[in-house]
Amino acid sequence: MGYEEYESIIGLEIHAQLQTKSKMFCRCSTQFGAGDNENTCPVCTGMPGALPVINKKAVEHSIRVGLALNCRINEKSIFARKNYFYPDLPKGYQISQYSEPLCEKGYVDIIINKEKKRIGITRAHMEEDAGKSLHYGEYTLINLNRSSVPLLEIVSEPDLRSPTEAAEYARAVRAILIYLGACDGNLEEGSMRCDCNVSVRRKGEAKFGTRTELKNINSFRFIEKAIDYEIQRQIDSIEAGKKIVQETRLYDSTKNQTFSMRSKEEAHDYRYFPDPDLLPLEAKRSWIESIRNELPELPEERKKRFQTQFALPEYDADILTREKGLADYYEVVQKESNDPKASSNWIMTELLRELKNSDKEISQSPINPKQLAELIRLINDKTISGKIAKDVFADMYRTGRGPSAIVKEKGVVQISDEVQIEKWVTQVIAGNPKQTEDYRGGRDKLFGFFVGQTMKLSGGQANPEAVNKILIKKLKGQA
Ligand SMILES: [Zn+2]
Repeated sequence: MGYEEYESIIGLEIHAQLQTKSKMFCRCSTQFGAGDNENTCPVCTGMPGALPVINKKAVEHSIRVGLALNCRINEKSIFARKNYFYPDLPKGYQISQYSEPLCEKGYVDIIINKEKKRIGITRAHMEEDAGKSLHYGEYTLINLNRSSVPLLEIVSEPDLRSPTEAAEYARAVRAILIYLGACDGNLEEGSMRCDCNVSVRRKGEAKFGTRTELKNINSFRFIEKAIDYEIQRQIDSIEAGKKIVQETRLYDSTKNQTFSMRSKEEAHDYRYFPDPDLLPLEAKRSWIESIRNELPELPEERKKRFQTQFALPEYDADILTREKGLADYYEVVQKESNDPKASSNWIMTELLRELKNSDKEISQSPINPKQLAELIRLINDKTISGKIAKDVFADMYRTGRGPSAIVKEKGVVQISDEVQIEKWVTQVIAGNPKQTEDYRGGRDKLFGFFVGQTMKLSGGQANPEAVNKILIKKLKGQA
């Protein structure tokens, strides 16, 4: 049987680091990049007798995310101890939420092949992060800076059916987290990590196959590649008559393969029980509603506004609003240039292409939005042609300088002076008697040749509209 006989079932667990200044249960800083074990205290290093105190801001962020993911927010939720031994977990347990999480039963809509697909969210619960083991040959060191950093684990239903859908879902969740200011979404620094649960079954079967869990994937591209690899591996195993083992696997991006890490624990292996050091978390309905009322504009709403307010096609609005930074950038360009469509075109074609080529985020763009708006104004007031503008844009991107300075320095101001253009046209016609004769004899196609020659003679500076007008007059007029 071939791959097309199978269907893949995917669910994601996204761990988002909540943007708080201090940790989940102590006052230590959450700052990334601090010296080893600098951000630690008796609580987050698990010293006997140290007591945890919940961070209100982390709860507030979690409620905000839960609401944006259309979840029910439980007024009472319970912190539980998830018991396991690991060197980077000094207490011997992780504080998490188990049977009574803060947020449940939500959903996110994603667009797949231009169609909306609803992905269910089973739950979103709060938990603390563990520390980090650093391996140096024969010995291992522990850095506990991350220990007890607040996380929200967002668990999806097994509603995803392809690697592309999984990556698209992860992108959508990330966009919402960033819009909310609840998580910075920085995959490289580990503030967002993804575990993927993958299984396959023959099409038409109702029962799910045995699943494996791909752990700690930190890029959208790797989510797609790792799941894709895992689906093929599972199908190949089944076709070869082997059984899929329930296990946790790691993805090696350099080899593009997944490897068995350990057999997958069942929930009962962790011996969850309510943490006696923490009271049940109570979130009053009035507090939840006040957070709901203050939710910022989310990607979906902003997309709709871009379509109505700026008359942008859905395609443009979708791309521009996927990332908050890009949407903010666009709004400045359109305001300063007063040309919504040209702003969208320049960003979606030239700017996004250059950013992609140089592997930069919009926040790292060498061209700021006001400079791009200025370039659009220079085109619209006919100071430069659209063609020259592309060269100026390339210079702006390379040097970070504003367009007016570049235009002035290069002397590329568009020339609309008809006396000057007429001189060039006359020169071109005189220099090409054969083509002139042929054109006048009816070979209309040669017109483009004359435009090209005139533009070339002007060093690209002649106003193309004026060139057309004068060429028609000269070529036809003297027939
Ligand atoms: Zn601490």
